[in-house]
Amino acid sequence: MLFTPWTILILAAFGLTMWAQFRVKGTFSKYSEVPVSSGMTGAEAARHLLDSNGLSHIPVEHIPGTLTDHYDPMSKTVRLSDPVYFSDSISAVSVACHEVGHAIQHKVDYPMLVARHRIFPLVNLTSGVAPFLLLGGLFLKISGLFLLGIIAFSVAVLFQVITLPVEFNASSRARDLMIKMGYIRNSEEREVKAVLGAAALTYVAAALMSVLQLLEYIWLFKRDSDD
Ligand SMILES: [Zn+2]
Repeated sequence: MLFTPWTILILAAFGLTMWAQFRVKGTFSKYSEVPVSSGMTGAEAARHLLDSNGLSHIPVEHIPGTLTDHYDPMSKTVRLSDPVYFSDSISAVSVACHEVGHAIQHKVDYPMLVARHRIFPLVNLTSGVAPFLLLGGLFLKISGLFLLGIIAFSVAVLFQVITLPVEFNASSRARDLMIKMGYIRNSEEREVKAVLGAAALTYVAAALMSVLQLLEYIWLFKRDSDD
């Protein structure tokens, strides 16, 4: 395989990504054992929070799996997994309110979410071809092809970077609303922060790794065009 001055950094970022994923599972299961003082389940909190924000038309559905929870902007649906939908734990209510946070962002046209939705179709297209363009350009030594690969890959990187403020904003909305609506007490905010913070770190690590990869490709392009 190719070894460049960037390899160590990229491997370190990969390690951070793995660690962040391991940690999010650990934190989630730790606070799955801690019941929330209001006794609400994830599904109840999501329903109540949607209704109080004028989003009664958005359904809360149950989906299989763990940590598969998401807000679907196409069908305008909040989907919660087994350990979130039925559970009254700190983890469950935090994740449920985070997903409602995305639905509220959608309603108020939060600019970063709008940008994310705009580039999403492009990301689908470019992420499929980027590896072929990059590998083809590198091994066939066609710099124009490699440059096209860099451009295609940078769309995916941009998408991951834009995801960061979207995720942080959904979590901070969730935290504030959970206290305001009385789903948690002030004393439970630290636990909620731990659950949502662990999830945010997985996005940060993944984005960091993509940015480093992009920098490596640009470095390779410059090195080869200087030859
Ligand atoms: Zn999210």
